[in-house]
Amino acid sequence: MSETVERSADPALLPSVDEMLARPPAVELISDLGRERVLAMVRSLIAEKRAALRDGRAGSGTGDRRAVVAELADKLAKLGADEKRSGVRRVINAAGVVLHTNLGRAPLSAESVAAMRDAAGYSAIEYDVASGSRGPRGPKAIALLKLLTGAEDALAVNNCAAAALLVLSTFAQGREVIVSRGELVEIGGDFRVPDILTRSGAFLREVGTTNRTHLRDYENAISDRTAMILKVHPSNFRITGFTKSPATAELAGMAKRHNMIFFEDAGSGAMTDLSGFGITGEPVIRGVIASGADLVSFSGDKLLGGPQAGIIVGRAELVGRLRHDPYYRALRLDKMITAALEATLETYLRGRAADELPVLKMLSASAEEIAERSRSFAARIAERSGASALVVELDAGKSAVGGGASPDAALGTTVIALRHPEMSEMEIESRLRLAELPVIARIDAGRVLIDLRTVAEQEEDDVLEAILRLG
Ligand SMILES: *Cc1c(COP(=O)(O)O)cnc(C)c1O
Repeated sequence: MSETVERSADPALLPSVDEMLARPPAVELISDLGRERVLAMVRSLIAEKRAALRDGRAGSGTGDRRAVVAELADKLAKLGADEKRSGVRRVINAAGVVLHTNLGRAPLSAESVAAMRDAAGYSAIEYDVASGSRGPRGPKAIALLKLLTGAEDALAVNNCAAAALLVLSTFAQGREVIVSRGELVEIGGDFRVPDILTRSGAFLREVGTTNRTHLRDYENAISDRTAMILKVHPSNFRITGFTKSPATAELAGMAKRHNMIFFEDAGSGAMTDLSGFGITGEPVIRGVIASGADLVSFSGDKLLGGPQAGIIVGRAELVGRLRHDPYYRALRLDKMITAALEATLETYLRGRAADELPVLKMLSASAEEIAERSRSFAARIAERSGASALVVELDAGKSAVGGGASPDAALGTTVIALRHPEMSEMEIESRLRLAELPVIARIDAGRVLIDLRTVAEQEEDDVLEAILRLG
């Protein structure tokens, strides 16, 4: 392996790559991170320093080789520490967005986490322990989904986008799919209905207008090229005012009369009516099936409160065909996700979902409950912050469902607002975020806001410590 010869602005001043690699902190970092990564860091630090010396913006250490080496070692230690903390690491969501897509949407229940851990080694994902022979893949999740939704059969793939792709490519390739113009939406994370349709090989037949689509608009568009009627839940988007779209039952009835498939992409996957918590307009899957939909898809990690998955339920004959499509083989769930999904679904069947699934616990927490927690949390800050100039105020606010569900939900909350005379809101926010265990807060009107709705009670101590370290 030949290392490029690095010529320095003042060779006497800059250490060589080898010299840096042979001394602390590189030696320890190499054992933690591997030589390749540390070498890349050392090279970039030396190159950066060389450029600085050449441009005369060297600042510290000019003319003193030992000071330059110490400065580079110091920077290397910081880079190495950042690198060690990088990747998918745990954070605390204090932003009050329950299904925060950038933070992994639904936090899993303790039971789901335990199920994932159990499944991580060898596990009976496609094996029937009773008979000692090969079995179907994940039959328990299928059985539980049938019980929960009233559907004849069920199937789960990687996410809801994959579910739509599988359904459309299996049943509508080279044929037309009729969709209302009011439902040609983009849902966070680049899910766009027209794009998925195109990639599945189906042709989009748009009907109606943005705000109003009638049953006769669908009916007039039906031809011998039509494979399917598709209804898409607009999720993160609401059209209000002069609007109209046919109900699921009307569309399902019409599709049946014309002998074609009616598929509803329900998106968030509510198992029960959540309007009591201020979450309205979310279809309950059992209701969609009861209305006559042939196939329904929804996400596992939105309102269901489980792992990332795309679940399809519906008529046995159709789900059976999906199961034998080559796309299913490419999109199916792995063993750990299957185990977490089974555990999540079991929680519903035990009637414990609202108490044990974090998403439902957070969504169902009342404004009074959060106000009470916030008051005692603020009191703990006051008790411990001593002479600090930190200003802590409680204020009424709103939490969000997030994850492309129920954008206008009314989730009243209490926020803990932080200000400091010597720090901008950006600085406070970033110092909380850069804590050993990052605390993700939100900025609003010059203040940093902490919303305890999305902070588990056992995480409160970590949030408190991060706030006290602001000084
Ligand atoms: C969120 C959503 C999707 C995408 O789901 P993923 O699980 O993120 O792939 C698709 N359709 C609807 C209606 C949605 O709400």
